[in-house]
Amino acid sequence: MRVHHLNCGSFYPPLAGELVCHVLLCESDDGLVLVDSGLGVGDYADPKRRMGPSRRLLHPRMDDSLTALRQIEAMGHSAGDVSHIVVTHLDFDHIGGLSDFPAATVHTTSDEHAAAIRSPDFLDRRRYRPAQWAHGARWQLHTGRGDVWQHDLTGHEVLPGITLVPMPGHSRGHAAVAVEGDHGVLVHAGDAAFDASSYTLASPAGRPLDKITAVRAFEQVVGRDRAAIRRNHASLRWLSANEGITVFPAHDKRILDELTAWRLGPANG
Ligand SMILES: [Zn+2]
Repeated sequence: MRVHHLNCGSFYPPLAGELVCHVLLCESDDGLVLVDSGLGVGDYADPKRRMGPSRRLLHPRMDDSLTALRQIEAMGHSAGDVSHIVVTHLDFDHIGGLSDFPAATVHTTSDEHAAAIRSPDFLDRRRYRPAQWAHGARWQLHTGRGDVWQHDLTGHEVLPGITLVPMPGHSRGHAAVAVEGDHGVLVHAGDAAFDASSYTLASPAGRPLDKITAVRAFEQVVGRDRAAIRRNHASLRWLSANEGITVFPAHDKRILDELTAWRLGPANG
């Protein structure tokens, strides 16, 4: 299927440069499908309630033209054309857009739904922002590890060609999302890695990637399970070494810039 790479939010934390919110817009047979949703119109209107105190560290660019809704409208579509949203996890910088598409079915793991909504523990209660799903998101939950997918990974095929691949560690129910694009498999790793150099030496176009120390330190601070995060980096390393698979993290601007530029060229995902 045809896939567009969007940036649906920019942050400027100290020493880390610009962090983006990499979102996929997929033209599927079931209508438009978003993978993650970035920040939404409501987040810019009410940042205190919807983004919480971490906005003071992350310094978002307050510009709602970055939302998936505004970008989709600029492409000639409307909110109602988005039928499904598949999210990597429920942190505020990934689900702000849900309320801009209230008719869409939202896919996540049962474990992530439990962490954020059904049975949050002390850390989870400080982490997630319930105002972002207070409009009444239409959840579709995916339970357990799913079927054998690739390597030692398993997944739930939530729509034809779109697979939710459980990868807990950053949060209790985090998952990557694999999409069979026109030119190969795209793996949206969400926050399973922050700095792409954690799992690969080179970008998809072959440019060497430097380590971004501040971003890696932030990953350790906000992650729930450091051993699981290391295992996830190893899984992403294995995936990205495969011909025909392009892996990218949610927030690494270097990778987003390459993949959006390719949209106009032969390597369009
Ligand atoms: Zn994130």
